[in-house]
Amino acid sequence: MPNINPNPTKKGALTRRDFLWLSSMTAAGLMFGCATDPVTGKSQLMLVSEDTEIQIDKQYSPLQFSSDYGEVQDSQLNRYVSQIGNKMATSSHRPHMPYSFRVVNATYVNAYAFPGGSIAATRGIMLSLDNEAELASLLGHELGHVNARHSAEQMSKGQLTQAIVGGVSVLAGTQSAVLGDLAGQLGQIGAGALLASYSRNNEREADALGMKYMVAAGYGSEGFIGLMDMLNSMSKHKSTTVDLLFATHPMSQERHDTAVQTANTTYQSALNGPLHRERYMDHTAQLRAKKGAIEEIQEGEKQMAQRKYDAATGHFRQALKKAPNDYVALCMMSTSQLVQKKYAVGRQYAEMAQKSYPKEAQAYHLSGYAKIQLKNFEGAYNELSAYERLLPGNPNTIFFKGYCQEGMNHVPQAADEYNRYLQVVRQGKYAQHAYKRLVDWGYIK
Ligand SMILES: [Zn+2]
Repeated sequence: MPNINPNPTKKGALTRRDFLWLSSMTAAGLMFGCATDPVTGKSQLMLVSEDTEIQIDKQYSPLQFSSDYGEVQDSQLNRYVSQIGNKMATSSHRPHMPYSFRVVNATYVNAYAFPGGSIAATRGIMLSLDNEAELASLLGHELGHVNARHSAEQMSKGQLTQAIVGGVSVLAGTQSAVLGDLAGQLGQIGAGALLASYSRNNEREADALGMKYMVAAGYGSEGFIGLMDMLNSMSKHKSTTVDLLFATHPMSQERHDTAVQTANTTYQSALNGPLHRERYMDHTAQLRAKKGAIEEIQEGEKQMAQRKYDAATGHFRQALKKAPNDYVALCMMSTSQLVQKKYAVGRQYAEMAQKSYPKEAQAYHLSGYAKIQLKNFEGAYNELSAYERLLPGNPNTIFFKGYCQEGMNHVPQAADEYNRYLQVVRQGKYAQHAYKRLVDWGYIK
């Protein structure tokens, strides 16, 4: 047994090399680090320590939350969701984990958990739920993934590891040209690529735990059936709005039927427990008032995915008529303008987005990109620096900062940023550009 510590050592940051190391070790078939599954008590192959789970969470969850346009600026709603999540977390199998719960602004339908316990639900899925017991079921299911350590398990099998390493480099590698087509990537970190794709067994276990936790918290088990009904009908009407949800959490008739059966047998006594529909409606009133705008954004995003930018713009315009300060609508409108090379208008919407949510990073990236295109490299550099202060760890920002310095003919500063970028990303057009400049400037011999 080699004496190797799988925990990263440098300043608590998990580096790309740590990930590569982890995946190469599993690829070599080395078995070590057995641990006890906190839920079943059985021994499981575990290459990932609890500290590492927490570190991965800390490093990646902020990127994902920003990719989803940050948490909603509705503190009452976030408090409500946190309260329900925390109540269940304290009676879970890993009550000591640093759980946190929030609603994120994204309008597609999804919920997800990072391995340290950072859990989010989108505005899209919140609008699809009917009562508090369904919300508790959803959060309980995500808690189930954290408690059964499913992400760590996927990582130990070398699957999520590659998704994470690939997530960053693949993203950079798919750009058609430096500063070219940016739809769906500007300011984004390959949404979803950082999240675990759970197995069907993982889903079964998360469902079982989810129902256990929500019943223990006093809800009627019928709420879990309600959630399954909703997911089941959504999975039958395929749409891009739910793609990511079902890619990460496989849905099946079996999941649905098992939930109905368990609710009627194991948790029969809780079947008619409270669902708290009114309480849910009260706390989501502000969100539901934006339903029309959110549906327009969902439509616009579908059109964006098909590169129908005129149609998309029309939907975002409608969304902004209904909700003039909506951060997602403003960011999406900016993106649709930038993709159509309407840089000045794109910048205006990005600035409106910054004003509507000054602490959220993504609009600074959009604004920075617009200013690069308008050849305002100094302005762009300032926007990107503001972005990086709010959200460190996005390699695209580093590349663009280098590109701004290059635009200002600040060669040593540009070389610094390009060098920093190549520490993280080795493939793709941006990496090629950075590498070529370093060679041209004599930094690489
Ligand atoms: Zn799941």
